Amino acid sequence: MEHIPISGKTQVLGVIGDPVEHSLSPLMHNYVLDKLGLDYCYLPFHVRSDLAGGVVAAMHTLGLSGLNVTIPHKQVVRDQLNLLSKEAEAVGVVNTVGLDETGNLMGHNTDVAGFEKSLAIRDLLGQLDGKSAVVMGAGGAARAVLYALARNGISHLTVGYRTHFDNAEELAGWFLYHFPNVRLSLVPFEETQDLVNALYDVAITVNVTPQGMAPMVDRSPLPDGVLPREGSIVFDTIYTPERTLLLIRAEEGGCRTVNGLDMLIIQGMESLEWWLGQEVGWRDMLDELRELLNKALSEKKPK
Ligand code: NAP
Repeated sequence: MEHIPISGKTQVLGVIGDPVEHSLSPLMHNYVLDKLGLDYCYLPFHVRSDLAGGVVAAMHTLGLSGLNVTIPHKQVVRDQLNLLSKEAEAVGVVNTVGLDETGNLMGHNTDVAGFEKSLAIRDLLGQLDGKSAVVMGAGGAARAVLYALARNGISHLTVGYRTHFDNAEELAGWFLYHFPNVRLSLVPFEETQDLVNALYDVAITVNVTPQGMAPMVDRSPLPDGVLPREGSIVFDTIYTPERTLLLIRAEEGGCRTVNGLDMLIIQGMESLEWWLGQEVGWRDMLDELRELLNKALSEKKPK
């Protein structure tokens, strides 16, 4: 594939995070931009937390066309933006910044679409209506997952949280404002019996914590011996390793499993489509993008 030579007209996209060197987004976005023959490039920007307050001003100054925002800058970037898309406003979390039609910077959230469409392409979204779900984690990505589950008809949600009851309570307040008719239960991670009860008739269980992510591959967000109902969906938003301990155990227990790689790809492609204002045809590229990213991930594995 030919790179369009960088010139004075090349538009710049990127991702900010701390750290950012592990990010697969530059590889993925530049691959797609090259494939579509667009005069854009996508760069990683390592932004330290003490400097993240200047990100939006820097975008203006440098004329960047769009940024993805990853850990730990989502909140601080959201606080700098006056304009939010419908999704970002609803979820309260920004993972993408771009320009609106009048050139003003706007925050957007593509994790909702990334999660939702990862289920939709497997024909699993239709199985949620009127059912129960368990979501392990109460951070920013959990909000996107909860939002997607509730708007697809889940009627009872159990949210597992680790330490901060205040955060979990705030999350519950946010959620019930948007979905007053959905039942929401908060369960501390260590309350094993409450989790067992919630998982008994669950339709989908989602991990939105880093538990099980490399190098913590021997961990799971669920206590040992506790498994979701046989035949239910288990979605781990982690994609490295490809099969986390949670997914391995869930498969052994007869669950349908999905890892976070498609969510990563789709949220990235949704950002690109939003910046460009056009479809990029990611569904037709999904297999090659999975292969591209899996190859990069396997090359990063410690020997
Ligand atoms: P976040 O806002 O920092 O929230 C992390 C959540 O996980 C919090 O509830 C936190 O609990 C909990 N947690 C953190 N470390 C933990 C540990 N060692 N054991 C148990 N719980 C722990 O982060 P986020 O943006 O929501 O992201 C969460 C995870 O989602 C990430 O690790 C990432 O793998 C995944 N993700 C994947 C995609 C994708 O495209 N595939 C997109 C976004 C996120 P406390 O409040 O107690 O710290």
